[in-house]
Amino acid sequence: MSNTQKQKNTLFSYFSTNKKICLENDEAASEEEEHELLQSTSKPITNINDIGNIVDKSFLKDADTKLVLTNLWVPDTKYNFPILECNKKRGLKFQHKWLHEFKWLCYSEIKSGAFCKHCVLFAKSGGVGSQSLGNLVTEPFTNWKKAKEVFRYHMNCKYHLSAVLDSEHFLKVLNKEEPSIIERIDRNRMTQVEENRKRLRPIIECILLCGREELALRGHKDFGSISVDEDALRQGNFRAILKYRAKGDDFLRSILEGPGKRNKYTSPTIQNDIIESCNTILLKKIAKKVNESKCFSVLADETTDISTKEQLAICVRYVSDDNMLHEDFLQFFEIESLTGEALANSILNINHDLYYSIK
Ligand SMILES: [Zn+2]
Repeated sequence: MSNTQKQKNTLFSYFSTNKKICLENDEAASEEEEHELLQSTSKPITNINDIGNIVDKSFLKDADTKLVLTNLWVPDTKYNFPILECNKKRGLKFQHKWLHEFKWLCYSEIKSGAFCKHCVLFAKSGGVGSQSLGNLVTEPFTNWKKAKEVFRYHMNCKYHLSAVLDSEHFLKVLNKEEPSIIERIDRNRMTQVEENRKRLRPIIECILLCGREELALRGHKDFGSISVDEDALRQGNFRAILKYRAKGDDFLRSILEGPGKRNKYTSPTIQNDIIESCNTILLKKIAKKVNESKCFSVLADETTDISTKEQLAICVRYVSDDNMLHEDFLQFFEIESLTGEALANSILNINHDLYYSIK
């Protein structure tokens, strides 16, 4: 396939309004017929990049926009601009030098008139500040007598300035010089995630410390806002430790004393969520060790708690790779029945949940 044919096949899909030269929707037409038609038309092949092909399109792909901004057909200096009916009296033609004078200007051979490439692509319908769109945007401009006057007026229109900015942004995003809206939203989200993780870190460390030292988190009065320097009594270990740490940690102090209520992560609900997450991680770690051991046994004992509910305590005893004997407490489970069968079923079901097999 020649270069000319290659160009024809790819660019035809972008500009398809001119039925004389575009056969995209004509399934019956063969490639040869298409080629013949192209040969028979007096218009040069470069005209398929003519802005007139996309002026009437209601939806443009990014590829179309890129093509208009970077590879639009420009008549050469020897191009013979036609004398239109409206300009016959004075014999006026489009002047090639205008293309150099006004960088946004382009000429359409198909529409026999001038357009602003930025406004064709990006000018908003109705215009900004009640400036209506018309010549140079949706209609070809052909009144050459007033050409420079109209061009100068156009380049100061608000919608034109806005469209030029949109074109610059489009090319920057296309060339990866600026993040797209989706990337920007994604980046903002990632920044928010990082910020939230930073906020949560001291809270989680405080809960882990209480867990290791077997300290109860809650106190007699552990609700409401936290004031780091306030000398409150019986607020509970969790709040007391957080306040103590915040005295040497400006970031934590800014979180605890800052605005908002839902972004502090200190409520009992959040505490329980964090404890639950710690529990899940610890159980997975122990289950992994048990699964890797050569042998293990399950220890279970039942007792009644202060609220008279039957609690089954489950421990596991196993030998690790270095032949060391380990005994780890797993969890308390509330049970309904104390019969041997019910206890055995409870242990089997619990073990299933803990990802290890005792078969
Ligand atoms: Zn414009």
